[in-house]
Amino acid sequence: MNSERLTRINVETSSRSQLIDITREVRKAVASSGVSGGSCLLFVPHTTAGVTINENADPDVTADITAFLNKKIPLSDPGFRHSEGNSDAHIKSTLTGTSLDVIISEGDLLLGTWQGIYFCEYDGPRSRKLYIKIRPDSG
Ligand code: ZN
Repeated sequence: MNSERLTRINVETSSRSQLIDITREVRKAVASSGVSGGSCLLFVPHTTAGVTINENADPDVTADITAFLNKKIPLSDPGFRHSEGNSDAHIKSTLTGTSLDVIISEGDLLLGTWQGIYFCEYDGPRSRKLYIKIRPDSG
């Protein structure tokens, strides 16, 4: 069994707002851990990015999520005070969240048929990272 249960994946984003399917990379980390039952903690160490689970079948879903967030939370707002000029990205990060816990069963992620895991970029393009902590069931 592989004892390395903390993995980091790098995500290169290519636009300011973008949802990137990272399901395959997370599955790979679970498989190489050798853990058959437990959970998989995903953590994004950024304040203008996030991680979420949503539909992986129709790409219009993630396009709609991105477009809707951008419409409701515009880049600039007369009420924003943060001088860096990216308050919209901080707000979207908080709405999405920066961590997820996914069940591992029979050595794989227990995702629904139409579910994929997405890294959410809100202030790209940038080089990002995401940590994966594999936690086996105890006893
Ligand atoms: Zn900022």
